[in-house]
Amino acid sequence: MKKLLLLCLLFSSVTFSQRTIIYCGQLIDVKKLEIQNEMSIIIEKNKISDVVKGYVTANATDKIIDLKNKTVMPGLIDCHVHMDHETNPDRTLRFSQNEADIAFEAIKYSRVTLLSGFTTVRDVGGSVNIAIRNAINKGLIIGPRIFTSGKSLSTTGGHGDATNGLRNDLMHIPELNGDVVNGVDECRKAVRQRYKDGADLIKIASTGGVLSLEKDGAGAQFSEEEIRVIVETAKDYGMKVAAHAHGAEGIKRAVRAGVASIEHGTYLDDEAIALMIKMGTYHVPTIIAGKSVADSAKKPGYYPEIIAIKAIAVGSVIQGAFAKSYKAGVKIAFGTDAGVYAHGKNWMEFIYMNEAGMPALECIKAATVSASDLLGNNNIGTIEKGKIADIIAVDGDPSKDLKVMGKVKFVMKDGVVYKNE
Ligand SMILES: [Zn+2]
Repeated sequence: MKKLLLLCLLFSSVTFSQRTIIYCGQLIDVKKLEIQNEMSIIIEKNKISDVVKGYVTANATDKIIDLKNKTVMPGLIDCHVHMDHETNPDRTLRFSQNEADIAFEAIKYSRVTLLSGFTTVRDVGGSVNIAIRNAINKGLIIGPRIFTSGKSLSTTGGHGDATNGLRNDLMHIPELNGDVVNGVDECRKAVRQRYKDGADLIKIASTGGVLSLEKDGAGAQFSEEEIRVIVETAKDYGMKVAAHAHGAEGIKRAVRAGVASIEHGTYLDDEAIALMIKMGTYHVPTIIAGKSVADSAKKPGYYPEIIAIKAIAVGSVIQGAFAKSYKAGVKIAFGTDAGVYAHGKNWMEFIYMNEAGMPALECIKAATVSASDLLGNNNIGTIEKGKIADIIAVDGDPSKDLKVMGKVKFVMKDGVVYKNE
């Protein structure tokens, strides 16, 4: 018995002290926006215990990961995904799929997302995203760390009203109306319910949207009073609010009411930009979503006509909206609306941001340190002593060619290696 105890103690002390050392040919400092050559990252358990210049000498028990011919950076963060859905022209799916069917698809999308270098995502609306987050956290399936809103909140006839465009009798089925709230009392109650459901944040649609069966994709849809109650109640429960918003009026109401981020921001005007700067509101641009829905809208029959018209209109201006807010000095957090386009292509947003005038390393900053700031989580987003070991690597130099972000070769999340090519 004594012998066994001694053996256990020995074993646990060995595993406890084992370090992983990553030799990095190049390491991106996302705060200073510079690339450092020949660095070592030392990891103990799931945390970074040190970052040092040069290739440190390893002990016999250390595990070495050689990334001397790669560029290493923090795990990427996408602040706008829908993990349980992927674009599909089949409009009957919503009536044929049960939640279990949706969840099995989400397992696939979660894996694809993590292996493409996104170690954390903010899921802003879906029916199974809380369960998917929990399954990943339990180690049952592979995927990024998820912060989720659960189901989003919308007004009657608004972007998130799933009964838009349905027959009158179907419009009144309660199960289809779960995301709809009107008036401050319902708003307050819904936020508390989301908290109870297990949400990490609240998502609202403060204007119309593209992919819903409503005529106006940009008009304001919550009163400022309603949004203010949502923000205040969310704050009580330790949650931030993300507002889907295309039109300027709905953007301004949401910003004045204190939301943390404007998603899309397609038709923002100078007044909205000034307000966002004053309030410290993040813009999550989702340029790839705009471009992708506009492309799909050109394929005959991909969307109903009511959607296709809005998709083409939004797709042509969304990149310009980002260029405008970025140049004015609005805080930018990387977000793509993955699911509106195929999961795993999130990296293409880097190309579109860069095209619109943001330097390459700033694009990576938006997907790391800025995104972690929007999430309100300072344990991730940088490679620094004490941070969680979320680390990825690519071939080549992304500061010179962002296309290399499309071929992530190494992925570590929470100190565990998921990919090493
Ligand atoms: Zn979205």
